[in-house]
Amino acid sequence: MTDATEQIEPPRRRALVSGASIAGPALGYWLTRHGWDVTLVERAAHVRGGGYPIDLRGTAVQVAKRMGIYDDVRRHQVGHRSTRILNQAGRRIATMDLSAELLNDAASGDVELPRGDLANVLYDLTRDSVDYVFNESVATITPHDDRVDVTFVSGRADSFDIVVGADGIHSTTRRLVFGPESDFIRHLGPIVAIWDMDEAGLAPCTGTMFNIPGCTAMHMRENKGPARGFVAFIVDDPGAVDLDDTKSAHRLARRAFDGHLVPVVRQLLDDLEHTDDLFYDTVSQIHIDSWHRGRVVLVGDSAYAPSFLSGQGTSIALIGAFVLASELVAAPDDPAGAFTAYEARIREFVERNQAIAVRKNTNAIPRDADALRKRNLKLWALPWLKRTGLVKLLDRGYKATPTSLSIEGYGLT
Ligand SMILES: Cc1cc2nc3c(=O)[nH]c(=O)nc-3n(C[C@H](O)[C@H](O)[C@H](O)COP(=O)(O)OP(=O)(O)OC[C@H]3O[C@@H](n4cnc5c(N)ncnc54)[C@H](O)[C@@H]3O)c2cc1C
Repeated sequence: MTDATEQIEPPRRRALVSGASIAGPALGYWLTRHGWDVTLVERAAHVRGGGYPIDLRGTAVQVAKRMGIYDDVRRHQVGHRSTRILNQAGRRIATMDLSAELLNDAASGDVELPRGDLANVLYDLTRDSVDYVFNESVATITPHDDRVDVTFVSGRADSFDIVVGADGIHSTTRRLVFGPESDFIRHLGPIVAIWDMDEAGLAPCTGTMFNIPGCTAMHMRENKGPARGFVAFIVDDPGAVDLDDTKSAHRLARRAFDGHLVPVVRQLLDDLEHTDDLFYDTVSQIHIDSWHRGRVVLVGDSAYAPSFLSGQGTSIALIGAFVLASELVAAPDDPAGAFTAYEARIREFVERNQAIAVRKNTNAIPRDADALRKRNLKLWALPWLKRTGLVKLLDRGYKATPTSLSIEGYGLT
């Protein structure tokens, strides 16, 4: 007989999350902390490192603090980097720390750290509470009123209360449940390749950036770790590029920079030719009318990728995971209602961030000679604008990024 005073435990809900980068582990953290069992499948053999430094800003900083990882995140903060900005002839027009001068607000607690370091901080935080399965991916998803049946590429099958796609811009979850990627992806024009360089001969905390219209070449070394190479160039039909053929990155980049082989470009192209670990993608956004269907929901880039041009992809992934978890914890028996509330809370915020990426496009990768001339003029004049207090004229284009979403009323800690 049950003792009348014995507390009856509510049933534990089961979530399947696809993708172990930023959004997935963050969601796993919150859900497991509040009584859910979370299985997290990742297609790669381990958490993927790499990538350029990313930013945590505004509300994402508050979320990181609530997760108790803020101090850890700050330990990975990249230091000051003096970037030499070159004109089309390869001559220096300015030297500055682009992030500190133009993008981040150190006084507000913003942090810039290597993407892979943040992914590892989140993995370390959740490795004991979340059931991670690497080398695994969903194969089929069959939604029912009361559960979702899933089969995996390994042949396993299981059922969950909800399924969450946190598997990035090329989300498999989205394709299986919402339709083909081509229905939702908007290419902004450029292709980007990012990789760790073998030997760039760069001193720590230095970098170089070179532009011609429609193309950016950059190498950068933080206070620790290898130098990173970055090339981005606009192509006519980004959707037609085979991103699995990483060798095409070198071929296309060589064509894009043809006739502009200044030393930094030459060095980057030589290194790119020999690297086999590359982040190679179109610069694109995801726009989808609704981020949920039945018991399946999307979070992070799979739902609303803003592109790296916004500088906000990671922050809005972290915030999205927090809001989604908050709504699920408040209404565990009503996932559809929780998903609707999550979307209502952050859709306008992420759409503003997507809009800014389209606008900033002209700063990171100026598209034509006129845009490049104006951008270079701004960078050249920056020290003087700062001295005279006129730097606010620039803020419209740079620090105007929307970083703040009210999380009032969400009590999760
Ligand atoms: C290796 C890498 C390097 C990056 N470099 C940069 C960068 O330099 N600058 C920048 O702004 N952004 C970069 N990004 C993107 C950035 O991480 C995201 O924009 C942002 O942080 C949102 O994260 P997310 O968790 O939603 O998606 P993502 O970070 O894209 O993570 C998606 C995860 O899902 C996994 N996955 C994909 N398909 C499946 C599947 N079928 N089954 C299981 N798992 C799957 C991927 O391996 C990945 O771990 C990079 C992403 C990766 C994966």
